[in-house]
Amino acid sequence: MLNFSAVIKCCLLLPLWLLLWRLSVFLEYAPHASLWFPPAGLTFAAFLLMGSRSATLAVWLACMLSTFWENSLFNTARDTAELLASGSIFATLHTFLYGGGALLLKRQMALSASFNLVTLVTRFLLIAAVSSLILAASGLALIYSYDGVDSLIAWWIGDMTGVVVMTPIFAGIVTRLFPRYSFMPEINFYDRPKALSTFIWKLVLTGLLLSIILITAEWLNSEEIACFIFFLAIPVTWIVFTETPFRASISLAAVSVLTAAIVAVIGVDTQAYIYQFGINVIACSAYFTMCVPALAADNRALFEKVHIDYLTQALNREHFTALAEQQLKYAARYDKPVSLIVFDVDKFKVINDTYGHSVGDSVLREIAICVRKKLRKSDVFGRFGGDEFVLLLPRTNVHRARQVAATLRENISQLSFAGFEFTATCSFGVAEATKGAPFGQAFDEADRALYDAKKAGRNRII
Ligand code: GH3
Ligand code: MG
Repeated sequence: MLNFSAVIKCCLLLPLWLLLWRLSVFLEYAPHASLWFPPAGLTFAAFLLMGSRSATLAVWLACMLSTFWENSLFNTARDTAELLASGSIFATLHTFLYGGGALLLKRQMALSASFNLVTLVTRFLLIAAVSSLILAASGLALIYSYDGVDSLIAWWIGDMTGVVVMTPIFAGIVTRLFPRYSFMPEINFYDRPKALSTFIWKLVLTGLLLSIILITAEWLNSEEIACFIFFLAIPVTWIVFTETPFRASISLAAVSVLTAAIVAVIGVDTQAYIYQFGINVIACSAYFTMCVPALAADNRALFEKVHIDYLTQALNREHFTALAEQQLKYAARYDKPVSLIVFDVDKFKVINDTYGHSVGDSVLREIAICVRKKLRKSDVFGRFGGDEFVLLLPRTNVHRARQVAATLRENISQLSFAGFEFTATCSFGVAEATKGAPFGQAFDEADRALYDAKKAGRNRII
């Protein structure tokens, strides 16, 4: 049984599908083949987002109606029984292959242990290619009599382009309007958008280049010039790298719609094939390009996870040591002083035992924030474990380092912790690294000084 919301979805999807179908007929350039077939993309997106019940009914009916509509548009003089037969074959193939393809993609992604954009893109393109090929081959065999490989390729690539280019834009629009329909919340279509006007300029420039290529190719009747459409991959890649994935999808859809429209208006003939492949190849490579910023962001996040302490955002011991070694080499080479401050919270166990571990955590966090406020850009700040922190101060002698430690000691002791009466203090050990000595030696000296500070009564600098 269909519920109310399924009926509404069905009523919206059906006319939209037919509208896109009519548009693709207007843009047909070969028998049974449009330059690109956007209803296929709509079917794919509908199954990804809507669930199969309402999508199946709407898409199946739309396919059926389109068969009758086609008959009246082209006067193919088939009787009702023939139309019903061919309509139901087309409807079943289209719904089963694109709907099934979308559900397969959704299921595969749901089964993956973690989200991976490259896997999503690879599977999406593969499923789009295979389902459109099977549809074109079986459609030609069962509905129209097979009339050569040209028709097969035209139908196949036209449908595949429809799925590849239009699915993301439909999915992007629906999830923008109704976020709860997002089929994968991990895809951030709208991450950090830049000025809209810049994006529009990029689109206009891309559209202008495209129009120049298509019109010149037609004017000079040159397939060689038509091949320049592949160069559009450059501005499209530029858009993908500099704009949000949603805007990148808009630009791909815009490139394909404009291409199809120009082809329909100026009526190019043999070059249409080149444009069909051009749009497809540009879209496929754009999706992989889209993975690059996502991979770079993943890499950054991974780097931070590995090198930065989660609680205090200070560098962890390993990364701190690596940076410190570098700084010591640099200082030895240019004969500059470097100092180290090692400090540790006093009686931190008591804070943990009295107020609880989470209060202890917030003490460590607040101390780290307080320290970071006082640092120069070149200073290196790390957490060596537990309640012990290390600071490396390049171009700083021990006297200046002692002053820095004094400021930190003062500021930390003034920290207050919301809802609690206690204050936290730290003990500091300061040492200037001996020229050319390894980090371990400088650290040991500062750590010994810290130990002495603890022994001398805490909350002091040695
Ligand atoms: P001292 O003045 O001699 O330094 O005394 P202390 O009690 O601070 O002794 P110590 O530095 O050895 O104690 C460190 C404690 O910090 C022990 C451990 O339970 C606690 N600790 C270590 N890591 C964390 C953490 O991430 N969060 C919290 N809340 N406590 C931690
Ligand atoms: Mg301590």
